[in-house]
Amino acid sequence: MSIPTPDRETALARLQQFVGRAGRSYAKFRNFDLGSNDHAYVSRLSPYIRHRLLLEQEILRTALERHGPTAADKFVQEVFWRSYFKGWLEQHPDVWRDYREAVDNLTTRLDSDSGLNQRYSRAIGGRTGIACFDAWVRELIETGYLHNHARMWFASIWVFTLRLPWQLGADFFYRHLLDGDPASNTLGWRWVCGLHTKGKAYLARAANIAKFTDGRFNPEGQLATQVEALTEARDPPAVALPNIEGSGPMGSYGLLLTIEDGHSESLPLTDTPAAIVAVTAAENRSPLPISPIVESFSAGAVVDALRRAERSFGKQGHTLSMRDWSKALAGWAKDVGVMNVVTAYAPAGPCATQLEEAQILLKQQGMKLIQVTRDFDRLTWPHAGKGYFKLKNKIPRLLSELKIS
Ligand SMILES: Cc1cc2nc3c(=O)[nH]c(=O)nc-3n(C[C@H](O)[C@H](O)[C@H](O)COP(=O)(O)OP(=O)(O)OC[C@H]3O[C@@H](n4cnc5c(N)ncnc54)[C@H](O)[C@@H]3O)c2cc1C
Repeated sequence: MSIPTPDRETALARLQQFVGRAGRSYAKFRNFDLGSNDHAYVSRLSPYIRHRLLLEQEILRTALERHGPTAADKFVQEVFWRSYFKGWLEQHPDVWRDYREAVDNLTTRLDSDSGLNQRYSRAIGGRTGIACFDAWVRELIETGYLHNHARMWFASIWVFTLRLPWQLGADFFYRHLLDGDPASNTLGWRWVCGLHTKGKAYLARAANIAKFTDGRFNPEGQLATQVEALTEARDPPAVALPNIEGSGPMGSYGLLLTIEDGHSESLPLTDTPAAIVAVTAAENRSPLPISPIVESFSAGAVVDALRRAERSFGKQGHTLSMRDWSKALAGWAKDVGVMNVVTAYAPAGPCATQLEEAQILLKQQGMKLIQVTRDFDRLTWPHAGKGYFKLKNKIPRLLSELKIS
């Protein structure tokens, strides 16, 4: 499998190529992982959706127009899983903070705990002797992608067979996935561990792996056969969603592009920006090194977003290429002499952390940071505070409110 080209044109072409298989074929075959050269039953659109080079509405509309709501139902539901996880993490931000703290502590512990270090190194080096797991490690590192079922099996084996801390596994994924996403990744891992749906952990079974890899692997006798859900000291506290109701007048503003949204042409902006700036460095995903293909995909996605924004708004943009960019952003805003900085709302994650810092610095300069929210997020997130099924039941209404169907 080659590394996808990080631009919207390729994303749209990929969507057209796949849409024929987003109906009954997806419902029937999507759980088959036939190997890195044959992920034909799934879309592989996630790196594009993650960077919003493609919007959820576009994907949903394309699938629904081709197949109708019944046949496209499973695919539509999967796209809403992404939004569900985002909305849930927005309402439980401590989960993200705790995860990052645990990764910091565990990566420090790797220096002093040689037993942990050896087991961890064997796992991420693809040297466990469990053929499927070792193959997924190689696929992840080489391609930046794993099939959803492989992600579930991988995480389950990591936690319940290899007995490694889940946060180190989530960090390994996050550093290597082109679609690496604070919400889907952290909560995907927590779901496997039985922390998201409390008490219900996911067991990777040899027979299930043999069936859904079409016999490529059969780790019979190598995997844990029972799982006990992980527990934590307290239930993650819920907070109200931040004010995502719209932003009012923007005045003379600088438009900031980040990896969170690569389609500023369709953002609900009230005026044309006076200047444009784009952060091209990959987000600060981990204290450990980030995969070069992730760096290159993320940078490419933002550069593509910048070129389109320049064309659309008739302005030459500026780029910031450092990982901690809050100070540089404030400096740029001062240099170009704008009143405010406007950007797409950044949900919990490294980009939001940079924006929190930037907001303070901008305020000191008498400027405001305005985050604009897309209708898709504004309408779906309020239904994502508890289990997925609450949001799932709202899908027909949401599709109609969003004028998708
Ligand atoms: C442990 C674990 C970690 C994960 N980490 C990430 C991550 O960092 N980033 C990420 O985008 N997804 C993550 N997922 C979810 C899912 O595996 C991927 O979104 C999916 O495999 C992407 O491939 P695709 O585009 O071919 O999916 P398709 O099957 O074609 O689905 C279409 C789209 O729906 C969304 N989607 C599908 N399944 C899920 C799901 N279970 N959860 C959330 N969204 C979904 C994605 O945006 C995807 O592109 C993770 C799942 C697990 C179990």
